[in-house]
Amino acid sequence: METRERRPFRKPTLRMLVRSAFLAYFVYLCTRLWAFALWALGRSSVHVARPEAVAGIIPVGAYTSLFAWLKTGTFDAVVPAGVVIVLAALLLSVTLKRGFCGWICPVGSVFEAAAGLGRFFRRRASGAPRWLGRNLPVPASADRALRGFRYALAAAALLLVALVPPAAALEFQKLPYYAAADVKILSYFVSPPLWWAALGVALLGASSAFGNVWCRYLCPLGGLYGALGSASACTVVRDPGPCMDCKACAKACHAGVRVDRATSVRAAECDGCMDCVLACPKRGALTPRVLGRLSMPWWLWPLAVVGAWFAVYAAALATGHWNSPMPEAYFAAAIRTLGL
Ligand code: SF4
Ligand code: SF4
Repeated sequence: METRERRPFRKPTLRMLVRSAFLAYFVYLCTRLWAFALWALGRSSVHVARPEAVAGIIPVGAYTSLFAWLKTGTFDAVVPAGVVIVLAALLLSVTLKRGFCGWICPVGSVFEAAAGLGRFFRRRASGAPRWLGRNLPVPASADRALRGFRYALAAAALLLVALVPPAAALEFQKLPYYAAADVKILSYFVSPPLWWAALGVALLGASSAFGNVWCRYLCPLGGLYGALGSASACTVVRDPGPCMDCKACAKACHAGVRVDRATSVRAAECDGCMDCVLACPKRGALTPRVLGRLSMPWWLWPLAVVGAWFAVYAAALATGHWNSPMPEAYFAAAIRTLGL
């Protein structure tokens, strides 16, 4: 990963606000799911309705169900919201690059915050040289190898779920584990085992030093969305005519993309954050475009990401593909079977 100029917390940017809003809402939903689990286990007398959107934290199950749906036409009848969420993320990838990663994903927001805090505290250290306020550099060969590892992980995970026989995938949906997997995963965050806590601390520490290492090197979903995003309909396009070759765009890019060398940013790492467009001092040199031609103002990109996200949610709600048709008692029984 190259050394970058990006400063922490210059001011609350639109992206910070959007990401924070999604993260806060996700945390709120997790607290509701946890309250539902405590009620199901009889540890609390307060009943809280089970939220659907937390299904997003079980992507392996959701992708297995997605392939089962594609092969059999049977949509997930236990946690359909999980399939809707991955469909929305895939749709964003082929239209607005890794728009899900750049503007919505709560996990990515946590690691990006860790990276920002790392830069902030290094910069604040008394007498710290200017370079300490940036992400520490990762040698180019290690960066390439680690990014390759993420794509290999993404390909292996996708192949694994795609090859699950449809009958087995549909049977899997009937297991208590499938209905209660979100609660089980959540329990790892509420009361983490030592190895889990150590892993979390190591990843957050590495992110505070080297930038968001989870999204760049490890997240298989990010690898999949990045690969799809390479063929995205919308891209940032550089016009060499007005470009002054000042490299402000490349320095602003948190993903280490050499925007100053591209004509159309096809890099899989680009998540459409718009930082490069905002950093460019020359009008008309760097523009978000649809199919490389139709230009749009930078703010239309996040608006389209968030708009598409809620449009998919509204369509799923209206067509009965969001709320689980299973009664709450079914999920409560699954939680009791698995325990916490
Ligand atoms: S700064 Fe530009 S190239 Fe880099 S991730 Fe953001 S939109 Fe993509
Ligand atoms: S910031 Fe703008 S003018 Fe400077 S190199 Fe990038 S595209 Fe060219």
